[in-house]
Amino acid sequence: MVAEHPFQFDECNEHFRTAIIATLGPASSGPDVLGRLVDAGASMFRLNFSHGTLEEHGQTLKELRAVSHERDVPVAVLGDLSGPKIRLVKVEGDGVELQEGMDVIFDPTCTLVLQEEPTRLGCSLPRVLESIEPGQRVLIDDGHVRLRATGCSNGCVQCSVETGGRISTHKGINLPDSGLMIDMPTEADRACAAWAIEQGLDWLAMSFVRTAADIESLDAHLRVCAGSGKRLIPIIAKMEVPSAIEHAASIIDAADAIMVARGDLGVELDFAQVPAIQKHLLSLCRDAGIPCVIATQMLQSMIESPTPTRAEASDVANSIFDGADGVMLSGETAVGQYPVEAVAAMNRITRATETSMRTMHLESGGDLEAPRCELPGAPGSPVHMAWTMARESNVRCIVVPSSSGRRARLLSRNNFLLPVLALSPEERVVRRMLLYRGVTPVQVDSMPAAEDMVETAERLVRDRGWAVDGDSILVMADEPGPDGSEPDPVVHRLGSEG
Ligand code: PEP
Repeated sequence: MVAEHPFQFDECNEHFRTAIIATLGPASSGPDVLGRLVDAGASMFRLNFSHGTLEEHGQTLKELRAVSHERDVPVAVLGDLSGPKIRLVKVEGDGVELQEGMDVIFDPTCTLVLQEEPTRLGCSLPRVLESIEPGQRVLIDDGHVRLRATGCSNGCVQCSVETGGRISTHKGINLPDSGLMIDMPTEADRACAAWAIEQGLDWLAMSFVRTAADIESLDAHLRVCAGSGKRLIPIIAKMEVPSAIEHAASIIDAADAIMVARGDLGVELDFAQVPAIQKHLLSLCRDAGIPCVIATQMLQSMIESPTPTRAEASDVANSIFDGADGVMLSGETAVGQYPVEAVAAMNRITRATETSMRTMHLESGGDLEAPRCELPGAPGSPVHMAWTMARESNVRCIVVPSSSGRRARLLSRNNFLLPVLALSPEERVVRRMLLYRGVTPVQVDSMPAAEDMVETAERLVRDRGWAVDGDSILVMADEPGPDGSEPDPVVHRLGSEG
């Protein structure tokens, strides 16, 4: 039987269930574009430390905070540590063409690539050239240009071009056959992480994580930087090398969220394996109750076109069907010709997908095979009770006080697709919660006392148009006080007493 439930997410114009993350770059600089990106639906922005200076990122951050303040909407900022990402040095003009069969030389002293014969190439971590041996692959720009090492002498590596193409400034280099013994976080990452804490960034992504030990050493560094021994900024582990996939379970245990960084992943491994790995990682994250971001080439064609391909729209939608918390744009917003259109397209796809998920779920009477998800919290705990009650009653949403964001994160995993309105007095926690699927965070001056919670919840959901007289909502009380007591969650019907 079809459940009676007219609520649709798209009736609720403020509600973003899936975070849209826009990478910032030259195409998205300045307050005007930043404002338009927010208006188009971006709720989180990535500062990519692989490009630009900290001073430039500081300026962007200031503009972003001003845009968020003017509009009175929270906006989260993610700092992305470049890790031992190897990049080309500056390349003259708009790039240099490498032809198949050509010989080129990687030279540790080269700082500018010129159109010359033979072409000399330089990279951002010249000492990695020592780990390349003849016969190994050197891949440039996500593997679009492929070289093979033919010899090594005087610190230089001679290569032959197997697949030609144009190379340009700061394009990435992958060495999938060379074992890089590099300490992580790198010196540059340590400096950027310290800056991220100082500037109050909301999330910090770590690139090229190999095992949980890499996360643990970043964590130790962050605790030292904070001075208080606390980790003030949550860590997103970027899954982009084979070792990370092998150690996924322990990395997910150590990190606060993960990103399926499909760009490098599809270069380090066969790209044909990326879809299955993506599904596997999404499933591990659902079980662990942590967010998962899907990144790279989501709307790639929009770098040059104002509309996406149907395949791209399906890719974004399928990520959401599989439980992604965030979908990320990279080149589309950083260097593309249509950054605002790309965010707007992503927004339309996420909303249409969320609405159809909700409708399919309801039309199946709630029996749709939704992504598997463990019940959160210990049996009998308030989060566990709230989850069970929300699933079994016909409520419009869950309202949860969540000072640290933990309870909002656990409830955001609900696979019966109920929106969560999460309250916190901490601006930083509010911004962090933007990544949690289905959570709309609200900053409150102070957390309402348990006896005022129902009234506050009713006012908030009415103001947002989430519920009207006769609708029911599930309301949790604040986390336990010093005596450890905490009122049970209640189902409250709007327009009734109590
Ligand atoms: C990726 O490789 O997919 C990725 C997100 O990393 P970056 O954009 O930093 O190369």
